[in-house]
Amino acid sequence: MEAGIGKFRFKINRSIRTELLVIICLVGIVPQLIIGLVFLRNYERQSVESRIRLVRNQCLIISDHLYTSGYLDAADNEIIDSELAQLSNLYDGRVMIINSDLKIIKDTYSLSEGKYMISAEVIKGLSGESASTYDGNYHYIEIITPISSGRDTGEYVGVMLTSVSTSETDSIINRLRRLFTVAVAAASAVVIGIAVFVATKTVGQLRKVSTAIDNINEGFGEEEIEDNPYKEMAQINEAFNQLLQRMKNLDSSRGEFVANVSHELKTPITSIKILAESLTAQSDVPNEIYREFMDDIITEVDREDKIINDLLSLVKMDRAGSNLVIEKCDMEVMIEGIIKRLSPIAQKAKVDIIFETIRPVVAEVDITKLSLALTNIIENGIKYNHEGGMVKVTLDSEPMMFVVIVEDTGMGIPEEDLPHIFERFYRVDKSHSRDIGGTGLGLSIARGAVIMHKGAIKVDSRMGEGTRFDIKIPISYIVTPQEEHDE
Ligand code: ADP
Repeated sequence: MEAGIGKFRFKINRSIRTELLVIICLVGIVPQLIIGLVFLRNYERQSVESRIRLVRNQCLIISDHLYTSGYLDAADNEIIDSELAQLSNLYDGRVMIINSDLKIIKDTYSLSEGKYMISAEVIKGLSGESASTYDGNYHYIEIITPISSGRDTGEYVGVMLTSVSTSETDSIINRLRRLFTVAVAAASAVVIGIAVFVATKTVGQLRKVSTAIDNINEGFGEEEIEDNPYKEMAQINEAFNQLLQRMKNLDSSRGEFVANVSHELKTPITSIKILAESLTAQSDVPNEIYREFMDDIITEVDREDKIINDLLSLVKMDRAGSNLVIEKCDMEVMIEGIIKRLSPIAQKAKVDIIFETIRPVVAEVDITKLSLALTNIIENGIKYNHEGGMVKVTLDSEPMMFVVIVEDTGMGIPEEDLPHIFERFYRVDKSHSRDIGGTGLGLSIARGAVIMHKGAIKVDSRMGEGTRFDIKIPISYIVTPQEEHDE
């Protein structure tokens, strides 16, 4: 993540470990806190409400007695006094009886008798309105109970003002609060412990992978990353191991290729050296021998030249598809051109070439590369044939694709060699192939060119009967998103 203030930009490296830790802690602790606080609030509200209900019921009973006993006139009745005293003792509170002149005629604390109480609640109480208020700070409830002059008269002769303590409820709530704090602290400690464990373990697994990658990068070993019990990590490991395997394969195929190239290039040079040395070793070499040896040397030079040219073509095929020079091309004209160029070789080998166009095609292709591919395949049909044999080339088209079939009546390819013939330097019969000028690169060049055109090449062969190559290529060149991006 990048953050910046004005010109100054700085990079924040987020840590999976910290983020995991914070998330687990938040998910584990915050809900506990919310649930606990809601529970405590609810408990407090319910206990205050039930206390108000309880005290109000008592007050209603006493307020009835107050009127019927005429207490408001004289404030002198032992039974009522004891009822009031009992009420205030029971709820650890204070009861004041106020008459319609707002004069306090009875105070269970005996502090305010004879004084006047002028408050909005009391005045409202005299008009019949009951009220209750809870003061959480001072821990008490105040209840106003109007004293009626009889049932359904609608007249009120006084007010009973009762204050009761809620300290008992408060102490329970405080105890619960302490208990809750301890419980949340203990649970939070467990959650933090789990968070640290999970975050460290997860990051540990990632570190293992990154250390293994570092080790391989630094060349300490080429071991694969060991198996991981976690599915996601195992997937990363597997992907990495596959990549490593590919690298190893590439490395070994590169080594093999270099070894093959060196060998192939060395063979003609060795022959040239031997031929030249044997010439210089003799004095008075007859002219014919001299000429014969020189012809052999020229053949070997040509061979060296062919190998180098094939190698260069192969390197070009190995590059990305963006190297293709795509042009519209009449495939019939292209194939006719190839056959014309190859006809001297065919004549020499006494092999007939037949060309048939079933449906003419104009396709978007790289003319040079595709010509080279088809030349190699048709030339093979001639080379690996016998006198009086035949090579048949057929051009056809399917929806979106065109097809070139090259069939010969030649020697065929053994079944076990078929999967390898497109490999570089692979030759079924080395000496035979060399005798007829093969480098073992022709088919891998052909395959490279076909693949660059997003096409496919298939081979079918029967020993002693002949071989058939089927090449299918899209008529319109398909540009991949990668190539579009490269452009
Ligand atoms: P080369 O330059 O040796 O011809 P290629 O890559 O063109 O190399 O072919 C690989 C091998 O496959 C050849 O050496 C040959 O043994 C075999 N091969 C290719 N085409 C044919 C064919 N039409 N008939 C028989 N064998 C073939």
